[in-house]
Amino acid sequence: MRTAYQYKLRPTKQQAVEIDRWLSMLCAQYNYLLADRFNWYEQNRCPINVCPLVCHLPELRDNPDYYSQKKTLPLLKKSHPHYSDIHSQVLQDVVKRVKVTFDRFLSGDSNGKRSGRPRFKPRDRYRTFTYPQMKDDCIQGNLINLPKLGSIKLVLHRPIPTGFKVKTASVTKKADGYYVTLSLEDSTVPTVKPDINPNSITGIDMGLKEFLTTSEGEPIAIPQHYRKSQKRLRVIQKRVSRRKKGSNRRRKAVKQLGKQHKKVADKRKDFHFKTAKQLLSKYDVVVHEDLNVKGLSRTRLAKSVHDAGWSSFLSILANKAENAGLLVIAVNPRNTSQDCSSCGMKVPKKLHERWHSCQCGCSLDRDHNAAINIKNRAVGHSVLKAKSLRAQ
Ligand SMILES: [Zn+2]
Repeated sequence: MRTAYQYKLRPTKQQAVEIDRWLSMLCAQYNYLLADRFNWYEQNRCPINVCPLVCHLPELRDNPDYYSQKKTLPLLKKSHPHYSDIHSQVLQDVVKRVKVTFDRFLSGDSNGKRSGRPRFKPRDRYRTFTYPQMKDDCIQGNLINLPKLGSIKLVLHRPIPTGFKVKTASVTKKADGYYVTLSLEDSTVPTVKPDINPNSITGIDMGLKEFLTTSEGEPIAIPQHYRKSQKRLRVIQKRVSRRKKGSNRRRKAVKQLGKQHKKVADKRKDFHFKTAKQLLSKYDVVVHEDLNVKGLSRTRLAKSVHDAGWSSFLSILANKAENAGLLVIAVNPRNTSQDCSSCGMKVPKKLHERWHSCQCGCSLDRDHNAAINIKNRAVGHSVLKAKSLRAQ
């Protein structure tokens, strides 16, 4: 079982300066390696429909890949000796990062979803570096030993669970300081898979008015304090845009803005975790609309305003369920809000119509109706069938 814990770091001034220096060096290296890959395409590509009969071919060189780029690192350290201050594995991880982004661009990730053209990163957008291998005893008391950076103080707000080993560590610079994310693994404990009860099932409809509504008709609202912190974000955003570019006052406001962004993100994450926990403690199976279904209908488009928040919630939900051996199912979202949940007739309604009332006598809140439809679509789902067969 794998999980990740994040702790706040309290580096000394010197250590913070060193981390920043590493980040700027790694950023430069990242951009250089990316450019190296792009250059190959520029030099070795022939637009066939406009190819002149006689053309000059530059000396062909091999397409840079992970291994060939990795081999350049010792040379780099010779020509730019300050790069040897960085831990070698951290430097190698940059090559891997370039490989991953490029692979995703050319051939897509495991789901076949392709990303856009990789972009060069400005200095302040490059915020993380990773140690791909960590020693077991890297944490001593409230100090973490990061090779070549030394022992850095960290706020151990919760202990590392017993039996887990630290696999990798990523240091990130955020608006309000430095953080370390440890990926932990316990190979002795397989993911727990108790027999789930397929009847303990709920559907959730993600909405605009409420954050979500369950098929039992319980709404879960977006907490007030989250809305408040978002309002404050808008105030600060205005402040930034009013101040003169390049001025000190503007720079200060930008810093404030970064901090507020982090606050909003933290609050949202906290809310997502709590909601996921609440749902999974009540139900064994949670069904939701598949957000990745192609062909956005009009209602989907309107909903996409909040998509960013939803997809991160759904990934937290899926992750939590997996760890607890429970089930989360995504179903086709088509017409979930239009169909009647009791007779299946289509009852067209516009987005502002909040109530569903059908000729068959079914009269429900719009989101409640949709949630029931979502739940019903999972009944008979192949995953669920396999599960209940095993339970019998
Ligand atoms: Zn009906």
